[in-house]
Amino acid sequence: MRIFIINMLFLCCAVTLQAQRMCASATSRLSAPVPVASQSNGMPDEKTITIPVVVHVVYNLASENISDAQVISQINALNADLSKLNSDFNKIPSVFAKLAANTNIRFELAKSNPMGQATTGIVRKKTVQLMWKDDNKVKYTANDGSGAWDAESYLNIWVCNTVSGLTAYSSFPGSEMAEDGIVIRYDAFGTTGQIVAPFNKGRTLTHEVGHWLGLKHLWGDQPCGDDGIEDTPQQSAANSGDPVFPKLSDCSSNNDGDMFMNFMDFTNDASMGMFTVGQKKFMRSLFSEGGSRNSLLKSKGLNAAWNNFEPEVMPVNTRNLAVYPNPVHASNLTLLVNTPMGTNGQNFAIISTNGQIVKTGHILEMQQQINVQSLAPGMYQIRLTDVGTSSYTNFIKN
Ligand SMILES: [Zn+2]
Repeated sequence: MRIFIINMLFLCCAVTLQAQRMCASATSRLSAPVPVASQSNGMPDEKTITIPVVVHVVYNLASENISDAQVISQINALNADLSKLNSDFNKIPSVFAKLAANTNIRFELAKSNPMGQATTGIVRKKTVQLMWKDDNKVKYTANDGSGAWDAESYLNIWVCNTVSGLTAYSSFPGSEMAEDGIVIRYDAFGTTGQIVAPFNKGRTLTHEVGHWLGLKHLWGDQPCGDDGIEDTPQQSAANSGDPVFPKLSDCSSNNDGDMFMNFMDFTNDASMGMFTVGQKKFMRSLFSEGGSRNSLLKSKGLNAAWNNFEPEVMPVNTRNLAVYPNPVHASNLTLLVNTPMGTNGQNFAIISTNGQIVKTGHILEMQQQINVQSLAPGMYQIRLTDVGTSSYTNFIKN
């Protein structure tokens, strides 16, 4: 069993005003080792893995409310990069091109949301926040951001305005469910619309998807460090801009120098263009049985809408409550309340689709576990029942 140390901290890839990629916080804090399936037990190479995506467009200015076309251009660019179908692949020197892989991993905008209702896979949220830091706040409605969809079934991407110097950051496998996903600047996302060179070929997302699937930077975030992948050469540090091949390395005898055209370096979009076979094997290993991304293979996010539950029979306000995970697989769900609780907490009721109250209780915390083991599989509504509240949300028990 191959053991890989997964960094639970968010690894941030920032771009300064001079348009140079760099990471703010990389591998400073390590969690307990997270086992992933061995490469030999990974997914068969030829089987295409398709992952549903939800893009949360969180905007303050109209210019940040990017078009559907810009979102779609990004998904297309990502899929081209992952499939070795990027039109600039022929610029990669042959010594490295022969190591390049079609990952057979692709991403598609969701067709149904966690409640089984039809969706474009794009959620738009107008916010009072002018810009966001790398602190995950954009992922919560309580901060006037947009709440995550069930991360076991979707890749969540938040597109927003970020503080100066920050382009994007991603979670690693094994992170908190509500914070699992990628945050990216609106003008470094896609290949058309509100985009700014030199990050105008959609490769900021390709790089972050690499992190989301467990890849490290080539230099392992240490001088002459290692990314744990056999076929990427050792590298002394990040490259930036548009280097010229061969860019000889300070820390190895490799005559071909740095693989600065790898998506996990910090070069400009125009200088990137490949993942290696080793990186592909590592990413795909996460989808094998027991792997940390395996649940995505069972997602219903790309199925046609399957829930025609009439929203009219419910109150209108869904903004103040959220349930994770949804659907609920385990005996407990986590209820997130985004309104002030008061010192006495609040009462809640769980109601079945035929209107029966099947469980009541009292919560004291804004984030609290509720045992739903006794509920039969099906759809439920959970609502706060104190006078003056009308907060509710729906969830599915599997
Ligand atoms: Zn990075």
